Amino acid sequence: MAASEEERHLTLTGDFDCDPSPLSTLRHSTSHVMAQAVKRLYPEVKLAIGPAIEDGFYYDFEKSEPFTPEDLARIEDEIRSIAKADLRFERQEMERAEAIAFFRQRGETFKMEILQGIDAPTVSLYTQGEFIDLCRGPHVGSTGQIRFFKLLSSSGAYWRGDEKNPMLQRIYGTAWLGQEDLDKHLWRLEEAKKRDHRKLGRELDLYIFNEVAPGAPIWLPGGWTIVRELERFVRENLDASGYQEISTPILVNKKLWEQSGHWAYYQDNMFLVEVEAQMFGLKPMNCPESTIVYRHALRSYRDLPLRFSDMGRLHRNERSGTLTGLFRVRQFTQDDAHVYCRLDQVQAEITAMLGLVRDWYKPFRLEPFFKLSTRPPKSLGTDEQWQVAERGLEDALRANGLAFELNPGDGTFYGPKIDVDILDALGRRWQIATIQIDFQQPERFGLEYIDADGQPRRPVMVHRAIFGSFERFIGILTEHYAGAFPTWLAPVQARVLPISEKHAEYARSVWERLRGARIRADLDDRNEKLGYRIRDAQVRKVPYMLVVGERERAAGTVSLRPRTGEDVGTVPLDRVVGDLTREIAVRAPDLTVGRS
Ligand SMILES: [Zn+2]
Ligand SMILES: [Zn+2]
Repeated sequence: MAASEEERHLTLTGDFDCDPSPLSTLRHSTSHVMAQAVKRLYPEVKLAIGPAIEDGFYYDFEKSEPFTPEDLARIEDEIRSIAKADLRFERQEMERAEAIAFFRQRGETFKMEILQGIDAPTVSLYTQGEFIDLCRGPHVGSTGQIRFFKLLSSSGAYWRGDEKNPMLQRIYGTAWLGQEDLDKHLWRLEEAKKRDHRKLGRELDLYIFNEVAPGAPIWLPGGWTIVRELERFVRENLDASGYQEISTPILVNKKLWEQSGHWAYYQDNMFLVEVEAQMFGLKPMNCPESTIVYRHALRSYRDLPLRFSDMGRLHRNERSGTLTGLFRVRQFTQDDAHVYCRLDQVQAEITAMLGLVRDWYKPFRLEPFFKLSTRPPKSLGTDEQWQVAERGLEDALRANGLAFELNPGDGTFYGPKIDVDILDALGRRWQIATIQIDFQQPERFGLEYIDADGQPRRPVMVHRAIFGSFERFIGILTEHYAGAFPTWLAPVQARVLPISEKHAEYARSVWERLRGARIRADLDDRNEKLGYRIRDAQVRKVPYMLVVGERERAAGTVSLRPRTGEDVGTVPLDRVVGDLTREIAVRAPDLTVGRS
């Protein structure tokens, strides 16, 4: 639980544990060849690590000066000539002590450090041409197989992701099995850059970041409107699904965290505060406190299931170097809920949750993928609990007609889980939702209900979040929509534009009419040319522009222009208000006003 994503990443995809799929083998091999090219051009650099990662690879080097774009171009040329020479990758084994001496002699201090941390008598090394690297493999047969690649960027990165360690220079690259795949990936990267939520967040006045609060967004009125709409969506749906909302404190005495196990396993990720000589922690999760709500009353089998939703503000102490926009934050809010039920209710509860997942992603046109993770080798709980829980999750997936990937042994130590990825408009996968069965918290907190036979029993706890954190979800949505949010989420849903000052009064009455219908509208009656004001509304991705002049005033109409660019023409104001209200109420994914 305590490992940061960076550390997990190092242990999962670092040099010693390559995922051996053909694509990641190719990428990892390309990282070796890139290191070879770098060594040829800059013999003084020291090698750190070079894993395959999602969509590519990187290699970290110790070098006094950062790599420039010109350097990357030279390195790319060198990789091409190494590929052309078609050098074979050859594996050899070496005793660990021998390998340490070998890398010491070469001045490769990072390799020595890695070797010192390995608990094995022998290690493997891979050679291509004059280059040799410590590596578990596997690799492609020869460098000639490296054809469709590109170096993308370089940046500083701390050794082992820790700011107390030396700063290294990391080069990122990508490699694919064919030209078409490479081209598609480069297009996606280009498009993602244009859609970068940090850039759009600023341009559209949604959210900003300030150095006084690293990893915590400052919500501007526009972005906060989106948060409120998502919260409203969650609340409306949960109210209709038998959930009860609670709210629990942010600052909590360490006693609770000791009992929940967070103090032992998660302390490094928590912000701690001393108050009147007692230690408190800012909550990193809502779960332990929901058990207090459960315990506050005597529960009978008839009271279950109890479904507590808690959209509490959470804090996790992520390293400052890893914080990125809304994707990696220190402060966030989840659409979190904890369900307490009997073992025989697990399947029905999970079935209902999966129904919510399916329904909730629909208005966003996000396609969900389900992954079922089962009992890991080290786990807590009885065989019966695990069997019932795993079967419950699987049957619930089937009952909803959902295809799923099976990840055997990938569950948490406290129970099996379903994770849900979504595919966004750029074809990127994001893990968002999670449904986790937990036998541990009920045990640790001694939760009970009185069963039909009068005996006390333990309930099962299910943790679940569907949008995950609102912060990250809004970051994803911003990029998914390229800032053009559907009307129900758009901070400004309609903008009224008088052709000239003479029509200001009618424009004002149209604006008031829209606001009266609770449509988020504004009025742009600035003393600027109409064309300029229309462009401005388009840049700000306002779904609808309502242009009004003399003709519209006389007829009680507006000239309607959706942000998509087409001119729908003149539409009666009553109809615009009616259609808009409906579009917002049904949370329509597309702009529909004035089209029927
Ligand atoms: Zn390697
Ligand atoms: Zn939880």
